[in-house]
Amino acid sequence: MQEFDLIQHFFTRSTLAQARDDILLGIGDDCALLQVPAGQALAVSMDASLAGVHFMAEADPYAIGWRALAVNLSDLAAMSAEPAWFTLGLSLPHTDTPWLEAFCQGMADLASAQGISLVGGDTTRGPLSISIQVHGFVNPQTAWKRSKAQVGDLIYVTGPLGDAAGGLCLEMAQTTIEHAAQLGFEGQDALRRAYLLPYPHIEAARILRPYVHAAIDISDGFLADLGHLLTASGCGARIDLSSLPISSALQDLLGDEAALGAALAGGDDYQLCISLPRAQAQVACEACEAAGIPLLPIGEVIETLGIFDQYHQPLPTLGYNHFNAASIQQKRLAAAISRQRV
Ligand code: ADP
Ligand code: MG
Repeated sequence: MQEFDLIQHFFTRSTLAQARDDILLGIGDDCALLQVPAGQALAVSMDASLAGVHFMAEADPYAIGWRALAVNLSDLAAMSAEPAWFTLGLSLPHTDTPWLEAFCQGMADLASAQGISLVGGDTTRGPLSISIQVHGFVNPQTAWKRSKAQVGDLIYVTGPLGDAAGGLCLEMAQTTIEHAAQLGFEGQDALRRAYLLPYPHIEAARILRPYVHAAIDISDGFLADLGHLLTASGCGARIDLSSLPISSALQDLLGDEAALGAALAGGDDYQLCISLPRAQAQVACEACEAAGIPLLPIGEVIETLGIFDQYHQPLPTLGYNHFNAASIQQKRLAAAISRQRV
């Protein structure tokens, strides 16, 4: 298949390049022409997904497509921006039609659920890599920023932490089959899904939009990402480790101690971590509850710099950093821990 036919066949389908009134011209010309609503700012973010770094080349192409878009949507959620458009830079070693079908389906299922439309991109031959740039709308006065947390705010997350790290252990097959089997199919499936099919918390961000002071999405690990938010805001945090949301599936897989480690330092969860003014906490929690969206309290913003547990002991700000060999080790560590236990 030639490049033109490939683009035509895969990328102009209505579930990916869905119609929107603000797309004056979509895929097919040299540029797309897009209309930003009056008074709104354009929120722009980009994330690359490389085979062997962000996903395993032999992974399910449906999940690769879903995940590549999900991690970008998660950044829009973290600013409370409304998703609008995305562009796709795709490098492929060869044209594998079934692979591309599944890849596009994964991306399209999430794109149509979130109302975001593919408006352009570039397709080249090369090692498998996917770069997505998302565009959303946000009121520049009320956009959530990392820098706006205030001493006394309460800290919440939108769901369990560490499940994706558990899913990665299972995917890397660094836990024995017998041990994984003890976990049962449902537990394994939940952890795998957390890693392979992360859910961007756009809806939670929409509901919480009026209440939040500061937010970040947890991609590199809870402590690392909370640390970024706190550094930007010039404050610290006290976290009640006993209230960290850790799934029983993760505890079954890794044991309590390693599960806590995965919740604190494992990446890829894409939960939102938000800082809410105390006065707004109750109404925000009620709004989430009414919508069936979890919002779990885990700590508070304090004046002293650093992150501390409920006994005032400092916690290290561990996380995943591509340029730090220790981080690469760390991803393997969680897997190694699970192996040791069997
Ligand atoms: P040009 O050579 O002018 O840059 P291309 O041949 O690269 O144009 O692309 C033709 C059209 O197809 C453009 O509108 C471009 O945005 C779109 N396109 C190319 N690759 C992709 C892709 N991976 N996803 C979405 N649109 C794409
Ligand atoms: Mg081009």
